Amino acid sequence: MAHKFTFYNTLTRKVEEFIPREEGKVSMYTCGPTVYHYAHIGNIRTYIMQDALIKSLKYAGFDVKRVMNITDVGHLSSDADTGEDKMLAGAKREHKTVMEIAKFYTDAFFNDFDAVGNMRPDVVEPATNCIPEFIHMVETLLEKGFAYVAGGNVYFDTSKLNDYYVFSSEVEKEQLQVGVRDDVEEDTNKKNKTDFVLWFTKSKFEDQALKWDSPWGVGYPGWHIECSCISMKHLGEFIDIHCGGVDNIFPHHTNEIAQSESYLGHEWCKYWFHSNHLNDKSGKMSKSKGAILTVSLLKEKGYDPLVYRFFCLQSHYRKPLEFSYEALDQSVQAYNKLVRRVSELKNDGAVDEAVKTEFEEKFTDAVSNDLNTSMAVTVLYDALKADTNDATKLALVESFDKVLSLDLVAHAKSLLEGTEVDPELEKYILDAIQRRTDAKKAKDFATADAIRAELLEKGVEIKDTREGVKWQLI
Ligand code: AMP
Ligand code: ZN
Repeated sequence: MAHKFTFYNTLTRKVEEFIPREEGKVSMYTCGPTVYHYAHIGNIRTYIMQDALIKSLKYAGFDVKRVMNITDVGHLSSDADTGEDKMLAGAKREHKTVMEIAKFYTDAFFNDFDAVGNMRPDVVEPATNCIPEFIHMVETLLEKGFAYVAGGNVYFDTSKLNDYYVFSSEVEKEQLQVGVRDDVEEDTNKKNKTDFVLWFTKSKFEDQALKWDSPWGVGYPGWHIECSCISMKHLGEFIDIHCGGVDNIFPHHTNEIAQSESYLGHEWCKYWFHSNHLNDKSGKMSKSKGAILTVSLLKEKGYDPLVYRFFCLQSHYRKPLEFSYEALDQSVQAYNKLVRRVSELKNDGAVDEAVKTEFEEKFTDAVSNDLNTSMAVTVLYDALKADTNDATKLALVESFDKVLSLDLVAHAKSLLEGTEVDPELEKYILDAIQRRTDAKKAKDFATADAIRAELLEKGVEIKDTREGVKWQLI
């Protein structure tokens, strides 16, 4: 029997006990990235908190199957179906094809996704793989009278629903309606301002690179349809939990529910899990706003991606989190201290099973109480301070790592074996690389070469790669 598990359900606006349709089994859907650019550390925060949710559910005794899409078509620059396709804009920016852009940024996404200790979803499906499924859903919505064709495009008719704004309170509904009315880029084909595109054949904007034949002419899908279809393709007519960031609540998840439930004729997903944003001092991080701070970039600056995970786990998923290097540096200190503490534990005999169970219960209580990951970290500290032998403590560190994924035992081992690089040396190397990059930018190649030679003398070899400068000890 699984442990009682609660989290905040955006649909009911309450922290609720989670009860899946099938006892002990969870079907979960996650909105994946739009692969027109790098995923920033904010996007990765969302996937870290989802990973903590999945692993916590497993720790509490549930079986989880998780599906994620990759948005490689149809997401326009505004979430309200206006502007240029983000993928096409990416392709133009980099003088590549849309598929090249999709492949490059999907790989870059998983590189960072894996580096922070996340488990891959059971199924990952790009939107462009499922065009026949999208067409079938749009046809059915037309047959059932929930959609209409206007100006060559197919739209979902939101006036056919009793409650379109499912996630919102009465006050928020009014605000959203005002917001929709204020939308400047009006699409005169729409019968209602909240209607959204299911299939485009005529965009007001530039022609699309990727197009498919459909009963309504050659065109491409709207953004929301992919998540409904990909979820049904792999998880069937019902899902237990749907995840995303808070910006997905409206319009994306609102529209997903509208089309899925109209298509199915019944409730689709009972629990909606949304995590809050990572902000920097200037506000919300955004892929479309200038320089993108990625996990790979943090790594180049000498930060272990797992330290970023640790930083995220120490705050609650429902609260906005402000990123700063000062705050991250504090996590580095705390993480290194933890590793040092774990490295001091000896294998000193038998595990005290009673103590182990007691702490594991405390840990499960923390994560199953609205995913209180910072409390779970506190339980780890408490276990390390407990009045028990080292073997029990080590067993607990390994047990908690099934959820925390901080790789503490392996890091402690490297520290003992001396394969962990001395932080002072690492700082020197990264500074030297930065000085060399600055010299190259200033076309001072003599200095750049001298820095490379200086590093080589200290046993450090550097290589220039597409992802930036890489170094290794030789
Ligand atoms: P996108 O690639 O833009 O579709 O976003 C991927 C995921 O990141 C979505 O679930 C978004 O809700 C989430 N997201 C977007 N911006 C942020 C942010 N600043 N902090 C945390 N999550 C975000
Ligand atoms: Zn989605």
